Amino acid sequence: MIDIRGVQKSFKNTVVLKGVNLTVEEGETVALIGSSGSGKSTLLRCINLLEIPDQGSIAIGDYKFKAHDISRHTKKEVRKRTSMVFQSFGLFENKTALENVTEALIVVQKKKKNEAIEIGRFYLDKVGMLNRADYYPTALSGGQKQRVAIARALALNPQIILFDEPTSALDPELVQEVLQVIKQASDERMTMLIVTHEMDFAREVSDKVAFMDDGIVLEVAPPEKLFFHPEHERTKQFIDRYM
Ligand code: ATP
Ligand code: MG
Repeated sequence: MIDIRGVQKSFKNTVVLKGVNLTVEEGETVALIGSSGSGKSTLLRCINLLEIPDQGSIAIGDYKFKAHDISRHTKKEVRKRTSMVFQSFGLFENKTALENVTEALIVVQKKKKNEAIEIGRFYLDKVGMLNRADYYPTALSGGQKQRVAIARALALNPQIILFDEPTSALDPELVQEVLQVIKQASDERMTMLIVTHEMDFAREVSDKVAFMDDGIVLEVAPPEKLFFHPEHERTKQFIDRYM
């Protein structure tokens, strides 16, 4: 479960997040949509403390923190509970697919190498990449790289996975294989917050869709409601442009 209350963030004079409230229940998949520049990536980065929020509080499972009280310890506790999947994959180029998955298991979670390998192989298998375990990222397609990145996120067994446009850097023919893997994780009730421009996918997999507009989450509703009967005019305008 993740609960975001009143999160604000500015860069210099620009207020980017203006008091975001959003809850993702345990086992839920929430799609976060909204125009370019509305603050979606900044919100994800404030959740896992790649950016430090100026105001507000966030709970990730049983761990709560407030914006004005963030230490190195807080970051460590937050990173233990979250993993992030980026648009640009973010794999270590000098490590094989399997080593990419096992690295944090060994270094951060202090698992024994054998155990880490067992877990790593399990998750590579889950995303259909076990037969590429010993390949380096340069020998993988974009879709395959992203599936390895997702295996890496899943293997950490986080309380929530944050996805920032996981398919937008992919050639169109590779998008579906990645969405399929995310859908499977959703069906298995992994808790996930997914920034996406894939409206059909959001409709199909998400329990709720959150529409972000100008630094706030303006409206949250089940997909059928948000896409077809939005409360706000701004939401309707956005949907009409995209669907
Ligand atoms: P997109 O759909 O294009 O990815 P987004 O909703 O993810 O957009 P953000 O990346 O969160 O939007 O950016 C929101 C605003 O914050 C933008 O105006 C951006 O220029 C600004 N911004 C983000 N990061 C920084 C930063 N590190 N320094 C200054 N401004 C920033
Ligand atoms: Mg973004």
